[in-house]
Amino acid sequence: MHPFAFITAADEVEALRAGRGPSAQYIAGGTTLIDLMRLGVAAPLTLVDVTALPLGRVEPTEHGVRIGAMVRNSDLARHPLIRQGFPVLAEALLSGASPQLRNMATVGGNLMQRTRCSYFRDIASACNKRAPGAGCSAINGYSRLHAVLGTSDHCIATHPSDMCVALVALDAVVRTRAADGSTRTIPIVDFHTVPGDHPNVECALAPDELITHVDLPASPYAARSHYLKVRDRASYAFALASAAVALDLRAGIVRDARIALGGVGTKPWRCHEAEQELSAMPATRETFERAAAAAVRGARATKDNAFKIGLAQRTLVRALLEAS
Ligand code: SF4
Repeated sequence: MHPFAFITAADEVEALRAGRGPSAQYIAGGTTLIDLMRLGVAAPLTLVDVTALPLGRVEPTEHGVRIGAMVRNSDLARHPLIRQGFPVLAEALLSGASPQLRNMATVGGNLMQRTRCSYFRDIASACNKRAPGAGCSAINGYSRLHAVLGTSDHCIATHPSDMCVALVALDAVVRTRAADGSTRTIPIVDFHTVPGDHPNVECALAPDELITHVDLPASPYAARSHYLKVRDRASYAFALASAAVALDLRAGIVRDARIALGGVGTKPWRCHEAEQELSAMPATRETFERAAAAAVRGARATKDNAFKIGLAQRTLVRALLEAS
């Protein structure tokens, strides 16, 4: 048993004060962190419970919708503002985990989700993400579920979130507050980081920052959006490949598009080149196939996961056909 202190914060100031220091971690739904503590992968000395913070609302704003970091995944998925205006997000949320987990998991926690790489979760295996410099057991190990985009010679772990893939396709912005009271906005594409030489660094959040909200900007493509997830079984499984697409389509021509892939990248993967292939083009299967080829350009497979490169393309084409 690893002893730790448990502090329930009443407001953001108290949470930020209690959360200072590398040995403290915030906890909300606990659907990732409790698992990792049981496995010995995470061993915080202090857990700061942030579920009492007044960050549980979904509200319209002048420029879109603001989502509190404590909003539960299930509540967000069925909120009318999200279902009607940002369907890709509702679909992504409902494709993730199980109803019980979605009832517990929060938006802030989902943003901070850790990889499901089995070597990361096994403290007997070498893992650069868990122990920098230890090596990577996956690169020459069993890599069927691992990433093909954004990998490095030090880590090939896949980012596990469905919600974050949809947020990338919606140009979401993460809002934070630091211990000194300052606030910051981070575009979702810059929030998660690729492993590079430092797989232990997973996001742009500073140690003294707390996620307070996620903003969804109004856009001409958000309402025509769709999330498609391909996995080994019909529910309660992580993506082998997924696609979040959002289209501004007029008279059969793509005016603007946003595309993100999940299950294949070391972070939720924005596909700028694929979006350019769609711009001002007719919404046809041929156009979508060209975009899909562009989406996986530069993909790098290991011995068990080359199938993901073709699967991601087929998933993206189907998502675009369904959205259009
Ligand atoms: Fe660790 Fe990344 Fe290698 Fe998995 S892929 S063992 S998380 S370094």
